Amino acid sequence: MHDVNNTTEQQDAYECISVWYGGYGNYFCNFGWTCTQTFYSMNCLNLQNSFGCVSLRKAKNTVFNKTYSVYEYESLCAKIVDHMKSTGEWWEFFPHNLSPFGYDETVAQEYFPINESEAKTKKWNWKNNEETSSYHGSYYQPHNIQEYDEKIVGYDVAQRNIDELLAGIIKCEDTKKPFKIIKQELAFCIENHIPLPKKHPDQRHNERMNRRNPRKLHERACAECGAHLITTYSPERTERIVCEACYQRLVY
Ligand SMILES: [Zn+2]
Repeated sequence: MHDVNNTTEQQDAYECISVWYGGYGNYFCNFGWTCTQTFYSMNCLNLQNSFGCVSLRKAKNTVFNKTYSVYEYESLCAKIVDHMKSTGEWWEFFPHNLSPFGYDETVAQEYFPINESEAKTKKWNWKNNEETSSYHGSYYQPHNIQEYDEKIVGYDVAQRNIDELLAGIIKCEDTKKPFKIIKQELAFCIENHIPLPKKHPDQRHNERMNRRNPRKLHERACAECGAHLITTYSPERTERIVCEACYQRLVY
C-alpha cells in the first residue's frame, strides 16, 4: 500500500483516499468500499474490475458506469490507458484542476501554505476568501454577553437583543469577513458567561493553527543529558527541550 489516506483492511492500494473494508487492487480512487481492481473511481461499493465509475454499487467490468464483457472491458481500458499516457494523466491521482475547491480553502493551505501567484503558476484553483455576498443586510454590533441574559436584563430586553443578534451579520474585526452567531452558540456563551466572538470562525481557526509549531523537524540535543533528539522546536527557540527519559525523570 502506498500513498493511501484513511483506510482499513486494504491490500495493494495506491494513491487512494478512503478505501475501506476489504478489497485489493484499488488505484487512484476516492471513497470505495469492498472494491477490487478498481481505477479512478469515486463513491463506489463492491465493484470488481472497474474504471472511471462514480456512485456505482455491485458491478463488474464497468467503464464510466457501463458494464461490458471481460474482453470489451480489457480492450477499452487499454485504449483509455494509452490515451492517459499520452496526456501524462496515467498513474497519477485526479488532477488538481478537477477539484471544485480552491487550494486556499483546503487543509493543504494550513500545512503547506502558498500564495495566490504560486497557485496560479501551478494551475491550481484559488478562491480568494474575500467578503462574500452570501449575507445581505446591515452589520450588527454585538453587545456584552450580559445584555442577552434574561437573568440580568430581564426577559423582554434579552429577547429583543437575542432576536437582533441572531438576525444580524457581524463583521470580523480582523479580516472584515461577515459571519453569524447561531442560537446554540449564543445560548452556550450566555450560560458560561463567555464574550461573543468578534472574529470570523476561519480567522479563529487560523489563530489556533498559528499557535502550533511549524511542521518542520529539527535535530537537537537534550538540554539535560545531551542525547540526540528530533523536535518541532527550532534551535533558536528559548524553550528547554529534553529527551523522553529526562522528561519522565524530571516530572516524576
Ligand atoms: Zn535527556
